[in-house]
Amino acid sequence: MNVLVINCGSSSLKYQLINSDTEDVLAKGLCERIGIDGRLVYQKAGCDKEITEAAMPTHKEAIQMVLDALVNDKTGAIKSLSEVNAVGHRIVHGGEKFASSVVITDEVLEAVAQCNDLAPLHNPANLIGINACKELMPGVPMVAVFDTAFHQTMPEKAYLYGLPYEYYENYKVRRYGFHGTSHSFVSKETARFLGMDLENSKIIVCHLGNGASISAVKDGKCVDTSMGLTPLEGLVMGTRSGDIDPAIMEYIAKKEDLDIAGVMNVLNKKSGLEGISGLSSDFRDLTAGAKEGNKRAIAAIEVFCYRVAKYVGSYVAAMNGVDAIAFTAGIGENVGLVREKVCSYLGYLGITLDAEANAKSGDDCVISAADSKVKVAVIPTNEELAICRETVALV
Ligand code: AMP
Repeated sequence: MNVLVINCGSSSLKYQLINSDTEDVLAKGLCERIGIDGRLVYQKAGCDKEITEAAMPTHKEAIQMVLDALVNDKTGAIKSLSEVNAVGHRIVHGGEKFASSVVITDEVLEAVAQCNDLAPLHNPANLIGINACKELMPGVPMVAVFDTAFHQTMPEKAYLYGLPYEYYENYKVRRYGFHGTSHSFVSKETARFLGMDLENSKIIVCHLGNGASISAVKDGKCVDTSMGLTPLEGLVMGTRSGDIDPAIMEYIAKKEDLDIAGVMNVLNKKSGLEGISGLSSDFRDLTAGAKEGNKRAIAAIEVFCYRVAKYVGSYVAAMNGVDAIAFTAGIGENVGLVREKVCSYLGYLGITLDAEANAKSGDDCVISAADSKVKVAVIPTNEELAICRETVALV
């Protein structure tokens, strides 16, 4: 069957049409600047990208343009929309209501809307995307796949903050975690690739992209993860600070004359690798800067890797051991220097790297040396394929 995977942001929408039998991507692309002017990028498998500038006042027009492109006489990937058998939607926040993917019904939409407070920028956009698809493809089954669902197995001791318990009871303030689709996909793929029994394994997944998070996965279930109520907690990221002393917020607010929104803007958009380096949030720019001796770029890389290594250490403690560590996402998959630096802190676990294997990037590969006590691997993530598989399993 063919599954259309949709990932709606507030002013953008990414899509892939996947044949679930072969797991081939038939077409993919994105709509950008929705509500501003509008730009559709469409790419049929094996063909060049096509870019169309056209008005997209809302997500509905954007999805209509995607569907038109998919059935276009000349460059369409399918002949008619009846060849789209199901739609899988990425939803950012499922709160405590969703511990797994679900077929979308009116009750599900209502429950997702109740989580809007927890992800005010993302969930409303996700809902707009679902409603637009419902209108344009009536009767086609749709599935919601949540970024938070995989982490719902975390025990209370991992998800409760040291805050008044009433905040959890009344406002659902707790740790949720994100990138769950990726952590789930990569942990399963790590066990499969390394020939381990997932049900009897301790795996640490380092999802290092522009947004970055780590999870501890014991016997196939998440027992801890680094992001919290929001994706701001945890690692140092492209522009997000990750963990900081919360008292810094008041201190900076006074010094810089900022209100809460201003401080949050700094922590989310002007911190992390970009804030430390003053150069860029993009790792490629940082490695180039570091090569030229840029001190702040070097500091940003060091802080990033040190934080990753500290989290790995804490998750070894959380699981009382580790069998395998997997690196994934843009930085995890492509930057051997980061993997090398992180693993250099982990010698106490008996980890040794195979420098030659670590220097390569590409498909699934083992980068630890044959005598390493813990296997270390690069496992490319594929969130769209994971959403496609979840969708097929439910419809
Ligand atoms: P993601 O959010 O997973 O797309 O990852 C984005 C991050 O990965 C950015 O910091 C990129 O600079 C980095 N990245 C992606 N590809 C490469 C590459 N080939 N070499 C170095 N860094 C890369």
